[in-house]
Amino acid sequence: MTSAVYPGSFDPITLGHLNIIKRASLIFDKVHVVVMVNSDKRPLFTREERMELIRKSTKTYSNVVVDTWDDLLVKYCKENDAKVVVKGLRAVSDFDWEFQMALANKKIDPNIDTLFLASSEKYTYLSSTVVKEMAKYGADLSGFVPREILDDIVNKIAERG
Ligand code: ADP
Repeated sequence: MTSAVYPGSFDPITLGHLNIIKRASLIFDKVHVVVMVNSDKRPLFTREERMELIRKSTKTYSNVVVDTWDDLLVKYCKENDAKVVVKGLRAVSDFDWEFQMALANKKIDPNIDTLFLASSEKYTYLSSTVVKEMAKYGADLSGFVPREILDDIVNKIAERG
């Protein structure tokens, strides 16, 4: 069985993320979507909430599992018998950092490869930050995030005032 890991902050999951998950799920037997804890970022949603939003958005994909991790990514891969890390690339601006990370991970564990999937042209502009900014001003988010989680975002923004 071939397994892949798709890591990110997913604060919250967007249609851009979902597009990558869908395509990865057609390539691999199993895809682990892993909510990573990034100490540099102050998230809008808790880790558990982010996992729940991903679960709701991917419930029709039978080979996708949602998980979380706050240690080295390659350790997660090893423990879950996954040899591939999937990353989405929106623009050249994503490339520098992602390329560095791919090489660093390869140095730590030469058995792990990173597979870059080019973002669908429909979503190259889309990030969780854009979603949060639009949500603050009451924009219609239906073109940005899976419909299953629209209310969760609106409610969270209202809660935060
Ligand atoms: P962000 O906070 O920038 O939205 P994440 O850390 O959650 O991103 O991203 C996880 C992964 O998903 C990264 O590989 C990132 O490049 C990719 N990604 C994010 N948004 C998109 C998009 N719109 N299209 C394709 N890939 C994306």
